[in-house]
Amino acid sequence: MLRHAVDSSPHYRDTIGALVARGAPLAEFPTLTKRALMENFDRIVTDARLRRRQVERHLDGDNPASLLLDEYRVMATGGTTGERGITAFDGAAWLAAIANMVRFQKIVGIDETTRSMAVFASSPVHISYRIGAELRAIRPAAPGLNVLMPTETITQALNIYQPEVISTYPSFVRILAEEQQAGRLRIKPRLIRTSAETLTQDVRELAAATWQATVANSYVCTEAGPMGHECLYADGLHLAEDAFVFEVVDADHRPVRNGTEGAKLLVTTLTNRTLPLLRYEISDVVTMATEPCPCGLPVWRIASIAGRREEMLRFAKRGGGTVDVHAHRLRSPLTSAEGVRQFQFAPLPDGLEIKVSFFRGVDVEAISRKIELTVRVALEAVHAQPSRILVKEVDAIERSGSGAKERLVVVASAQHPAEK
Ligand SMILES: [Zn+2]
Repeated sequence: MLRHAVDSSPHYRDTIGALVARGAPLAEFPTLTKRALMENFDRIVTDARLRRRQVERHLDGDNPASLLLDEYRVMATGGTTGERGITAFDGAAWLAAIANMVRFQKIVGIDETTRSMAVFASSPVHISYRIGAELRAIRPAAPGLNVLMPTETITQALNIYQPEVISTYPSFVRILAEEQQAGRLRIKPRLIRTSAETLTQDVRELAAATWQATVANSYVCTEAGPMGHECLYADGLHLAEDAFVFEVVDADHRPVRNGTEGAKLLVTTLTNRTLPLLRYEISDVVTMATEPCPCGLPVWRIASIAGRREEMLRFAKRGGGTVDVHAHRLRSPLTSAEGVRQFQFAPLPDGLEIKVSFFRGVDVEAISRKIELTVRVALEAVHAQPSRILVKEVDAIERSGSGAKERLVVVASAQHPAEK
């Protein structure tokens, strides 16, 4: 792939030509950020006919799911990071991506006879929609649902279809569990597959309590394709190490040991010859496993994803300075509070706003006071001392971006608080 990139991509010829010529180890190669990918897209792709503007025009056009130049699957990510990215897969790369997903699903017992269905984004520009469309084509006919449809519509369709497996966002598992507990939804899935948002323990517990269902997380990056999937031990994401090279590094791009939390994940694709991604930066805070998985699969696992770097919140530190706290550390005060339906964090210059949508008929004031107190205690444990914590009642947390994901952290200004 390195040689191909240098031979066929003007950008890589300039940036890594000399490194490839002397056979330098991958660790010496420059990394590629999403911003750099977008800025240099036209020179990174190995087909000179492909242009970023043209890809964007195609995605904004009437038929974004059609092939561009009769050859390329193009997709976009609104991204959890809020920065738009685009991607192009040639025919072989797209088949490899779908084959990867089929293989992953086989690991958790899904085959072409399984009543498996997805509830993801509504937009065909998004990769989850496109993968879903491919998988629907090889399975018993399932209703086409998306998270932006009325919950009633989704509930009815699920009651009729009775899926064995549902693939959706972790935040939507909560909605489905709520429907089931209220008696409106009556399904018995054995497996929930999640994707796109960070999966937390409380969602696994919720699925186990509601349906006795296992939650298996999957790991898909729009730019690279499906990269990892949990087996039925549901204890970390097995990685497609035959299709990608994965490196966990610290903030200075030095490798970190298995079992140690990294600052980012670097991914190098071995299958997409049209858009070679070499040491592409993914801002997930991941920790690799230290032990092989008992399932016996020969590929390594990501033990945990703590979330995205963009979900880092910055607070004043006791005794001076600032301290960065990952928003996931503040989840438990919210998920353990009774009456909370959805929540979202928004940094304030002097503290934190917590938007909360409550269940009807609960004591909003009392719960808000309790949340403020428990969040403050959680922050004090890591020496963070915001002057203000504001709990704000909202009707609902809106989904955002083309992926219609539910964001854990939203920022009002363009400048992210964790950026220097
Ligand atoms: Zn396993």
